[in-house]
Amino acid sequence: MKTKILEITDPQKDMSAIRYAAEVIKNGGLVAFPTETVYGLGCNALDIHAASKIYEAKGRPSDNPLIVHLSDPSRVEEYVYLEDPLAKVYMDHFWPGPLTLVMKKKPIIPDSVTAGLSTVGIRCPSHAVARLLIQKAGVPIAAPSANLSGRPSTTEASHVIDDLNGKVDVILCGGNSVYGLESTVLDITRKPAVILRPGFITLEDLSFINPDTIQASDTSMKDGIPKAPGMKYRHYAPRAKMLLLRGDPVKVSEYVDGIYEKKEGEKACVLTVEEWTHYFKGKRVFDLGPMTDASRIAGNLFSVLRKIDKTDINVIYATYLEGKGLYTSIMNRMKKAAGENVMNL
Ligand code: AMP
Ligand code: MG
Repeated sequence: MKTKILEITDPQKDMSAIRYAAEVIKNGGLVAFPTETVYGLGCNALDIHAASKIYEAKGRPSDNPLIVHLSDPSRVEEYVYLEDPLAKVYMDHFWPGPLTLVMKKKPIIPDSVTAGLSTVGIRCPSHAVARLLIQKAGVPIAAPSANLSGRPSTTEASHVIDDLNGKVDVILCGGNSVYGLESTVLDITRKPAVILRPGFITLEDLSFINPDTIQASDTSMKDGIPKAPGMKYRHYAPRAKMLLLRGDPVKVSEYVDGIYEKKEGEKACVLTVEEWTHYFKGKRVFDLGPMTDASRIAGNLFSVLRKIDKTDINVIYATYLEGKGLYTSIMNRMKKAAGENVMNL
């Protein structure tokens, strides 16, 4: 397939590209587009046949549902039952923005989008290109992250081109993602409401609306069944093997000294925060940004993992970041990227 790659520098001036992409969506095609979280790979959420093309392009397991994106929150009741009295409160507070609400779906949302579940995750993005694309298409857009399944999410247009060129109809290039982490997924069909995936909107933020809100544990297996389908798969993984080292930086650096490139064929690097880079002198070091700036770290994570992927590095020694709020979301992604490979020092 020949992919049309269209640059958007100003959504209003480049409206013809957005209109073109909207036509592709209407006709059952696939469009990768920027959002404020990460890039999404979208199709018409009401077309029973379109979703399967997304699963195919990404190599996504067919039991992992897609999130449905709306441009206008006032139309949400066309697609879901608002059973939770707090549903509207969440929407008023956090939409448009990086919160996905899992609610009971109406029959108009095809099973192919929700992987057969009776619920659907709905989000209203704030990114101008995403909103205009949905508006011009005139239908909700089902979109997972625009990366090959299992790989780090895409936060820059070049990442999307690396993963999906030749596999989708259109890539709309609209700069770097503002947040760089996928949306928070909150299941409000459960009592208490449960965060299935932490993101920029944190447990602390959601607890203002409902103090009973809980965070699902990272693996969240109940009797061997994951609470959210996406939880059972390896995610965000760089090509290199990643090991998370938890402890104070002196101990971590001593440990790394003892093993760094000691194995035949090992090409290693250290992934850490700016303040700790000096502990790892003489080694290849990638830094995620200042320790106190969780937003910067979140925004850099996927692009740094993808940068490492472009080198010959095959082992990443990453330092564990302690903290609440956004740090929990960052560590959720890093633990998954490391395949839960965490060592306490
Ligand atoms: P992605 O868009 O690639 O970040 O994937 C969407 C995420 O939302 C996955 O982790 C899904 O498992 C989760 N998700 C989407 N719809 C639902 C749903 N109806 N119930 C539970 N989780 C969902
Ligand atoms: Mg994803």
